[in-house]
Amino acid sequence: MADKELAPGQTYATPGIVDWIEATHVAEDEGSALALEAPRVHGIPAVQVHPAEAKALELLLRMVQARKVVEVGTLAGYSAIHMAKALPENGQLHCLEVDARHARIAEENLRASGLSRRVVVVVGPASETLRTIERAGPFDAVFVDADKISYDLYGRWAADHVRPGGLLIADNAYLFGHLLDDSPEAAAMRRFHVEAARAFHTTCLPTPDGMLLGIRR
Ligand code: SAH
Ligand code: MG
Repeated sequence: MADKELAPGQTYATPGIVDWIEATHVAEDEGSALALEAPRVHGIPAVQVHPAEAKALELLLRMVQARKVVEVGTLAGYSAIHMAKALPENGQLHCLEVDARHARIAEENLRASGLSRRVVVVVGPASETLRTIERAGPFDAVFVDADKISYDLYGRWAADHVRPGGLLIADNAYLFGHLLDDSPEAAAMRRFHVEAARAFHTTCLPTPDGMLLGIRR
């Protein structure tokens, strides 16, 4: 088997393959294209999920027929736009974002995609704003992509507020390669993995920085 030529952690993906895959499988609309350009235009971090990952988020939400979804960490709304596309007209995506400027840019981009009605952007630290949306639960999915030191907290919240069969998805689950370091962030991220594996059927997809995927038991 050709796969055996690859050591763990290696990939056959080349920049050309990645571009071709994105062109073949992922369509951007006005808002998601703006969200992709936002780091260059607005000087914010360029840390959106990759286009093929954004499409995977959309498909995962479609698989569980998600209606109520939470995103922790929204930036310019790139992942939010792709996820919102999976929701029905009366669906609701709650986007939690600590940075008011990021939130405003995300709202603009969601509007450009015509998805504002299905999305509410809540400004504040998620450790506080998660509490304010609890009443809207239980949720069909939670996507975590914010401050890494708090992933364990977000994971526990998801275990308490995602319905059985619902999803926990988390980006940067390899912690930029530092998952096994001796640091508070790495300890929190490992705790997140271990606790998620108890409450959810889990794996960690080998995206460039790892995407934890769980189905609530
Ligand atoms: N999911 C986005 C990228 C998110 S980047 C995408 O793929 O398009 C991480 C975001 O988390 C940043 O916008 C940052 O401001 C936000 N963030 C950081 N700490 C946070 C916190 N405590 N609560 C809510 N959002 C936070
Ligand atoms: Mg990320």
